[in-house]
Amino acid sequence: MAQRDEFSLIEDIRRRAVVSDRTLVGIGDDAALLSVTGTDGVLVTLDVLTEGVHFDLEVSRPQAVGRKALAVNLSDIAAMAGRPTAAVVGLVLPRDRGARLADSLMEGMFDIAAEFGVDLIGGDTNTCDGLLVVSVTLLGEPSERGVVKRSGARAGDWVLVTGALGGSFQGRHLTFQPRVQEALALHAAADLHAMIDLSDGLASDARHLARESGVGLIIDARAVPIHEDVDGSLTDEARLERALCDGEDFELLLTVSEEDGRRLLERPPIEIHLSQIGEVTGEPGCRIRRDGGRIEPLPTGGWVHGFD
Ligand code: ADP
Ligand code: MG
Repeated sequence: MAQRDEFSLIEDIRRRAVVSDRTLVGIGDDAALLSVTGTDGVLVTLDVLTEGVHFDLEVSRPQAVGRKALAVNLSDIAAMAGRPTAAVVGLVLPRDRGARLADSLMEGMFDIAAEFGVDLIGGDTNTCDGLLVVSVTLLGEPSERGVVKRSGARAGDWVLVTGALGGSFQGRHLTFQPRVQEALALHAAADLHAMIDLSDGLASDARHLARESGVGLIIDARAVPIHEDVDGSLTDEARLERALCDGEDFELLLTVSEEDGRRLLERPPIEIHLSQIGEVTGEPGCRIRRDGGRIEPLPTGGWVHGFD
């Protein structure tokens, strides 16, 4: 069992990182919002992908890895309802196979950068006698309606999710479409109170949103949209578990007033499916309403990096 995990480390760093009023949103959300004179601020997010943890080059083409390295960051800018603008790329290349890898990897990254109108503006390249590590810092700008944080959920809100969840390791974790346009369209159509992208898994990410908002959530088991990538031969309970805990869905979890929720479901401003999967409660803690009405704690699954 690992001595520590990423979240306890991040909490310590967060406590120590005293910031000035230039930092409008700091550690604890999907992206930071930095004040820049004469603008509404700039969104900043960074994700690091490591060979053997986030991808396996025996299975995945380097192009797909390069695409994913930018796509996961696009998903974080989407989660703030921002528009991505420019990326800075850090590469640590294995000395024995770096040349071929780098060309293919960047091909995949350039493709998705063009698709989302992102400028590649810089980076750094190192080598090592080890595994491939790709780090992407992505900048973005808030839309006219400002950013949507994790911390804005209110008791009585509806909890909505885009798309369907679970089974992403069948391949979708590399090919997913970041919900940038969807987030902007939802934000333009309704007053989104809180939003997060599903990277660690619904069970884990719902907790992050609830904790940052100081509220609780009840998820309706029957309403959770299960992706067709989840093995159909599993029991209903096991399939639900996959949707809650697999992670890397990169869909959006958001909360809105009941009134806005009804409106969005009646006339969705996006093509991908939008479902109501629960509601926000004043009582802290995340729970699940099982088929038949029994209420239990939300499973604690989901991906966490642990270390000694
Ligand atoms: P996400 O899954 O949306 O990428 P993370 O769980 O990686 O978010 O990070 C949660 C928050 O902690 C973010 O605000 C992120 O910027 C911050 N964070 C993560 N690692 C570090 C670190 N080593 N130093 C400072 N902040 C960090
Ligand atoms: Mg995120």
